[in-house]
This record gives sequence, structure tokens and C-alpha cells, in this order.
Amino acid sequence: MPYSTISTLEEFMDGLKRRNPGEHEFHQAVYEVVQSVLPFIIDKPEYRDAQIMERLTEPDRIITFRVCWQDDEGQVRVNRGYRVQHCNAIGPYKGGIRFHKSVTQSVLKFLAFEQTFKNSLTGLPMGGGKGGSDFNPKGKSDSEVMRFCQAFMTELHRHIGPHTDVPAGDIGVGAREVSYMFGQYLRLENEFVGVLTGKGLAFGGSLIRTEATGYGCVYYCQDMLRHAGQDVEGKTAVVSGSGNVAQYTVEKVNHLGGKVVTLSDSSGFIHDPEGIDAEKLEWVKDLKENRRGRISEYAQEFGCEFFEGQRPWAVPCDLAFPCATQNEINEDDAKALIANGVIAVAEGANMPSEQGAIDAYIDARIMFGPSKAANAGGVAVSGLEMTQNSMRLSWSRDELDQRLREIMMNIHDQCVEYGQEEGWVNYLQGSNVAGFVKVADAMLAYGVV
Ligand code: NDP
Repeated sequence: MPYSTISTLEEFMDGLKRRNPGEHEFHQAVYEVVQSVLPFIIDKPEYRDAQIMERLTEPDRIITFRVCWQDDEGQVRVNRGYRVQHCNAIGPYKGGIRFHKSVTQSVLKFLAFEQTFKNSLTGLPMGGGKGGSDFNPKGKSDSEVMRFCQAFMTELHRHIGPHTDVPAGDIGVGAREVSYMFGQYLRLENEFVGVLTGKGLAFGGSLIRTEATGYGCVYYCQDMLRHAGQDVEGKTAVVSGSGNVAQYTVEKVNHLGGKVVTLSDSSGFIHDPEGIDAEKLEWVKDLKENRRGRISEYAQEFGCEFFEGQRPWAVPCDLAFPCATQNEINEDDAKALIANGVIAVAEGANMPSEQGAIDAYIDARIMFGPSKAANAGGVAVSGLEMTQNSMRLSWSRDELDQRLREIMMNIHDQCVEYGQEEGWVNYLQGSNVAGFVKVADAMLAYGVV
């Protein structure tokens, strides 16, 4: 990086940290993008003079609100709700809702910022947003979750709409929560419109949406491998998490002839050297979706080891798919993966790798598919759900899987176009710049708004 770019980057980050004190996740996500984008725009005065990057690091608006609900004992509970509407330059705000005790404004700002570039990469007309609450769904009854979702939507409904902002699921928000929120939206607005994605099939949902993020992540990995003359077949993979993204990552690796040997949750990870085959995976889906149990139960059921409080990155593998949460791979974890011979890391979760880990991947020149590219399949099929809702029709599973496959291939090709360096592809650089250009050009066209 030329000296002038380094000093510009430092100045930029100093200003950002001053304006957003204590928001470490947001600082981290912005740094990851501007380190690629600043060198790209340094000799492009049209972007620099219009302060595009400065504008893109200031969300359009952030809505915060009180969510008040009653638990099963009749006790009044208070949580905080958020919606970060980050940028609608290329389409309505679009991004998931997260219910997790770790949710803060910083976490949602990082997610909404990333979402803007990710949505741009899909080629579909969607802006970036993200929302959620510090509500912890663990251990809550169905009725408590329903009352919370209804209370959350009672405020959120006035800020969203099919042409304004279309939320979806994320950590802690699956089919059950989306359905409760959609039901409450119908009650309040009396309008059956595609205001949420990830809906049930009976009321406007799309086939393949449940599978899309995990499938898309493996498709992206397959494209990186093919570009380097390799394939998923015969490879051993390590997956973290055991929720939606992790489950369908395992399923697709299996379809393509690979073998997955780990899964995790916030209590630890299981290592099954025999591989998590289709039958074991069905058991995991039931455990997590219906019984809401812990991954340690897998070790008892199938007679393998459970490593309490640990993450799976020291297990030797060819492919790594972090699919749990942000900052789950630090520099030492990344070095352990590299030392054990990993050839590709494809991020199913958002920002799972700390900056030190990313630097290690880049130094080792392994294939690194960053989240905004590798996990864009979920929002891409959400975009297709919006299209089907507008057209009042439903596409078949095969047609949707085919579209998802094409979108992931197209994202891969854009990353190669902007990330090709001597002898290798820097997918981080490629995804950041490709995502930026489309949004930036729209903003330039609008003038100063
Ligand atoms: P789920 O709620 O279905 O699953 C989350 C999984 O991650 C669970 O196994 C959970 O374990 C684990 N996890 C969550 N927080 C932590 C933590 N702090 N430490 C360790 N493990 C943790 O969520 P999803 O599968 O939908 O989302 C996973 C990731 O993928 C997130 O980063 C999300 O933003 C990203 N993503 C999801 C998309 C989607 O379509 N769902 C789209 C694009 C990205 P436990 O049950 O113990 O909490």
C-alpha cells in the first residue's frame, strides 16, 4: 500500500473512531472494507471529492425503541429493539433481525454496513440494513417468544414496508420468529405484502430460502477451488455453529462428496472423524429446530468426542467454514488452520475472522472467501422471495437452486475481476471493491443527498 494511502487510512479510522466511540465491531468492519477501497479510490477524484466512503460509514438512520412484554409468570420485561437503515442507494433496506443477548448498536451497525456491500454483490436491487434486540430466546417458552415478537413488531411495523425496508431472520430468528412477526404485521397494517422474507411456504415464503446461505457458501467455496483447479470432492471440512447456516453447509458439502467432521455451539464442539452424514445431520436438525438441545448431545448419541468451551480450528482439515458468529477465529486459530494444511476458508457467518486472522490468510495466500461474498446466498434468495411476492407466483425448487448457483458464480467472478493479483486472487479486495463500485456509482448519480 503506498504511503499516502496508509496515512489516509489512519486519518479515516481516527475520524471514524472519534465519531463512533466504543463501537469496536463497527470499527473492525469498516477497517476491513476501507483498507481495500481507499487504495482503489486514491486516484479516482470523483469518489473522493464526493466523500462517498465518509457517507457510506454514516448510516441513513438508526431507530431504537423499547420492547416491553410479559413473561409466563406475568412479570414485565424490558428489552431494547433496533433497526439500522444503512443505505438504500440501490434498493429498499434489506437485512436480517438478530435476537441474542450480545446485540448492541455496534454489532448491528457492523452488520448493516457489511450488508450494503453484500447485497450489491448479489446483483439484485437491495440496500443494506440490519435489526434486532438484546432479547435472549434461550430457555424461553413458545408463548414468551410469541409475545416478544409481537411487541417488537408493534414498534417496528411503522418503519418498514415492501418498498422501504424488508427484514429477514438471523441468529435467534428462524421460521418461528419470522412467522410471529409477520402475523403481527398483518394485524397492524391489514396488508398482505412481502414485508419480511424467510416466511413459511403457505404464506409467501420461497423454496430454498432455508438452505440458501449454507448452500451458497459451499457453492462459493467450490468456485474458488475450481478456479484453482481443485474441487470439494474428497476434501475434509471443519464447520462451526450448528444453526441454520451450519446445517445446510454440512448438507451441501456432503452432496458434493466432501466430509464434515465438526459442529459447535456456544458450549463447545464435537469432532466426528467418521463424518456427519445425511442421517446424523437430520438428527442435528431435529435437535436444534425442534428439541432446542445442545450439540454435546451429538457426542453421546454417536459416540464421538465433545470439547467443552473450545472451538474447532485445531482440527486438521482442507476446508474451513466458520458458521456461528462474529470474531470466532483469532490470529492463533488461523495460524493453526494454516499449519494443518487448510487450503480454503469460506465464511458462512458474518465477520467470523478477526483482523489478525485475515492478515494470516492473506500472508499465507490461501483461498479466503469473506462473508460479504461467501454468505450472500441467503439474502440473494430473500431477494428472489421479494420478486416472487411482487409477481404473486412461486418458482420451483430446481429453478431457485439454479438461480442461487448462478448468483454465487457471478459473485465469485466479480471478486476475481477486482481481486486478481499476481499469481493469486485476493477475494477480500475483490469483494470489497466490487460491492463498493455499484453503490458508489448510484450515490454519485443522486448528487449530494
Ligand atoms: P442460528 O441462530 O441458526 O445459529 C447460530 C449458531 O451459532 C448456533 O449454533 C449458536 O450456538 C452459535 N453461536 C451464536 N452465538 C455464538 C457465540 N457468541 N459463541 C459461540 N457460538 C455462537 O443462526 P444462523 O445460522 O442463521 O447464523 C449464523 C451466522 O450466519 C451469523 O453470523 C449470521 O449473521 C450469519 N448469516 C446468517 C444468514 C441466514 O440466512 N440465516 C445469512 C447470512 C449470514 P448457541 O445455540 O449455543 O447460541
